[in-house]
This record gives sequence, structure tokens and C-alpha cells, in this order.
Amino acid sequence: MKAVVLLSGGLDSAVTAYIAKAQGYDIYALTFDYGQRHRKEIEAAKKIVKKLSVVEHKILSIDLTQIGGSALTSDLAVPQGKSFSEIKSSEEIPVTYVPARNTILLSCALGYAEVVGADAIFIGANHMDYSGYPDCRPEYFAAFQDLANLATKRGIEGNYVEIKTPIINLDKKEIILKGAELNVPFELTWSCYVGGEKACGKCDSCTIRLAGFKQAGLKDKIKYNK
Ligand SMILES: [Zn+2]
Repeated sequence: MKAVVLLSGGLDSAVTAYIAKAQGYDIYALTFDYGQRHRKEIEAAKKIVKKLSVVEHKILSIDLTQIGGSALTSDLAVPQGKSFSEIKSSEEIPVTYVPARNTILLSCALGYAEVVGADAIFIGANHMDYSGYPDCRPEYFAAFQDLANLATKRGIEGNYVEIKTPIINLDKKEIILKGAELNVPFELTWSCYVGGEKACGKCDSCTIRLAGFKQAGLKDKIKYNK
């Protein structure tokens, strides 16, 4: 069995890649250089694939800064200093939402999957910690599955590419515990939205990551700015 795994270099995508591996898939890792604020994530993805051993690691360039509209792809500031409970209870879609990102990335993954003959596409989305991202919801992935079946040659032939979201219903603590069980090298992953030598420790992504490790009773070995 073969699987295309979307690997951003973040913690969630690393755990997802290890889950795919544990399920017996040969991994075709796909990382996007979409103009995100920093290169740290992409460097992290390169280190993770070395540990994981994959068939192929593709880094696709799609310059989403030409569209902009997100704190991750424009000059808009990344919000910092919100508490864990503020992030969890917020009903607003945060400015770190990248317009239609998962649709853009999954569409590329679908094309890649069809070319290499992959049976599945794994994506490490979850909707427990980020309630605000519309393209991280289970109903979104169900709709994309329907689209994938209609959109591809192999879909028409009844040979579907399965869209798999193994951590969609897990919170960060549960994702970290699952990753620990699979020996995911957390120290190689990068979650901070800001970038820099060390993680900022103050953006939403850092705050959720730090809370997750604390709740899991594990130490996060990456370095943070104090
Ligand atoms: Zn951060």
C-alpha cells in the first residue's frame, strides 16, 4: 500500500506520517513551500523524513503570498499572548487561517497520489484545538472525498483514493501521547507561526503545543524564547 502524506514539518503532520507508516503504508511525503513566513517548517520536514524513511519527499512550490490574506502569507501580524482557554473558546476564524489552504494542498496531493498510484492521502488536520478553521472540519473532508472520487481517472474507474484524517478528533494532548507511543521525534518538529531561531512560545500554535505537552505529562524538547 502507498500513501501520500502531507508533511508540513509541524507536530500534527509528523504524528500523522508515523501513523501511516505504522499502518503499513509506503510513504510519499509532500511538503509545500507556499511562502509561509519562515523556512523552519520546511527544514523540519526534511529532518523528519530522514528518520521516517520514505519512498520520496517532494517539496512543491506554490506561492500563496501572491494571494495573501493570512498572517502566515502576508505582512499581517501573528497574534501572540492569548491564553489556552481564550484560543479554545474563541469562535472567530483566526488571522492565521490561510484562505482555502487545505483545498489547494489536497488538490495537489490528489494529483500526486494519482501519478504514484497511492491508495490514500493522509492529512494531519484536527478540529479540536482550532475550532475556527473551516477546512479542518470532518464534513469538509467528507466533501473533498466526494470531489476526489469524481475528479480523477481512477475515481471514475471505482479505484478511490481515500482521504484519511487519523487525528481529526484528537486534542493536542492525545496527539502527543499517540506520537510518543510511535516514537515520533518531536524535537525535530516545528509548530511556531512566527519563526526565528527559537519558537516564540506566545503564538496560538506555541500555546496549544505547550499546553498539550503539559497535559500529556511530557517535556517538549524544542527551545523557546523565554
Ligand atoms: Zn510561536
